[in-house]
Amino acid sequence: MIDMHQEIRDAVTRLCADFPNEYWRKLDAERAYPRDFVDALTAQGYLAALIPEEYGGIGLGLSAGVAILEEIHRAGGNAAACHAQMYTMGTLLRHGNDAQKARYLPGIAEGSLRLQAFGVTEPGSGTNTPAIKTFARRDGDRYIVNGQKIWTSRAEHSDLMILLARTTPLPEVTRKTDGLSVFILDMNAARGKGLRISPIRTMMNHATCEVFFDDVEIPAENLIGEEGRGFRYIMSGMNAERILIAAECIGDAKWLIGKASAYATEREVFGRPIGQNQGIAFPIAQAYARMRAAELMVQDAVRRYEVGENPGAEANMAKMLAAEASWEAAEAAVQTFGGFGFAEEYDIERKFRETRLYQVAPISTNLILSYIAEHVLGMPRSY
Ligand SMILES: Cc1cc2nc3c(=O)[nH]c(=O)nc-3n(C[C@H](O)[C@H](O)[C@H](O)COP(=O)(O)OP(=O)(O)OC[C@H]3O[C@@H](n4cnc5c(N)ncnc54)[C@H](O)[C@@H]3O)c2cc1C
Repeated sequence: MIDMHQEIRDAVTRLCADFPNEYWRKLDAERAYPRDFVDALTAQGYLAALIPEEYGGIGLGLSAGVAILEEIHRAGGNAAACHAQMYTMGTLLRHGNDAQKARYLPGIAEGSLRLQAFGVTEPGSGTNTPAIKTFARRDGDRYIVNGQKIWTSRAEHSDLMILLARTTPLPEVTRKTDGLSVFILDMNAARGKGLRISPIRTMMNHATCEVFFDDVEIPAENLIGEEGRGFRYIMSGMNAERILIAAECIGDAKWLIGKASAYATEREVFGRPIGQNQGIAFPIAQAYARMRAAELMVQDAVRRYEVGENPGAEANMAKMLAAEASWEAAEAAVQTFGGFGFAEEYDIERKFRETRLYQVAPISTNLILSYIAEHVLGMPRSY
């Protein structure tokens, strides 16, 4: 049985009490970054939970990350402002060389360096990652990068970016996943020197951006691992990413179900609580059952991950089921709250918007179903 980290959960819940719904609601209205919240999480070491102790982190397993992110969402918060640090850091940790790890990980662990940006998606490639066009051309002891990323979340609030770029043109590689490379980009050094960041306003407060590269220089020493093998390095972090996002969805579902069941119990219409009507109670109960099933899949995926398996199927299924469960809970909550479900001060509409994202990003439900069909059930590849 994996450690469910009850002490960490309690401590995160206490921290989140300082950042109540009013805090998130105000940020949402202003589309502002939760700087104070991220600073508090960093100060207490939670964003360094998965960084090994030798680099100044706490050195815990993925289950600790699951506990932290789930509890933030269960408290009504939104860890999307900072969650990427937990999984992008893994690319550096697993594939970076000693000098890169020594240079960056201690700063990330203590909070002086933010590794929040993950530049993979491009306007013309979307789900088809090998089709990216951003190109890094080797020129002596540096690479020159040209291209564009989209949906690079937190780019304005990050010092470093894990960047995927093509280093060999697509027509020149045997497999389309070859010829891609990963870099650690010092965004502070590149700002004003060819790097331009432009925020995208979205239906929720997500600090996501377009990023333009115009002859941006990256020292060759910032190439992670071997040139041309970047796709594998990025993919190796996907299981952790999916499991952590699934945990956030479980947290969202618990928050929404808690709100909906409480409101259904106290709100009286026709002189009786609305929760007495099965039309109100059953959707909430159904969402709870689906959340619990998804939670078990998350736990199974974490357990497999922590014993060193490659739980691609379980991580994908956990993410899909948890995202569906949180969405079902959001639907039930809006219906339960009636008109008040649409009022900002009840926070239901905010969570409804926030939790919808996870059926699209970081990977869409369709692509997860494709994965299961092909890799688990042995059916033909769809793309
Ligand atoms: C708020 C937000 C934050 C994000 N943050 C980041 C980030 O930090 N870094 C980053 O690199 N990316 C980020 N993304 C990008 C995200 O990973 C992509 O949006 C997602 O992978 C889908 O790609 P797309 O939007 O281009 O959709 P498309 O690839 O254009 O697909 C559109 C629809 O078609 C479906 N589809 C496509 N191909 C198939 C197929 N073969 N079979 C069935 N259905 C298919 C998809 O499932 C999807 O529903 C973010 C996105 C959003 C919205």
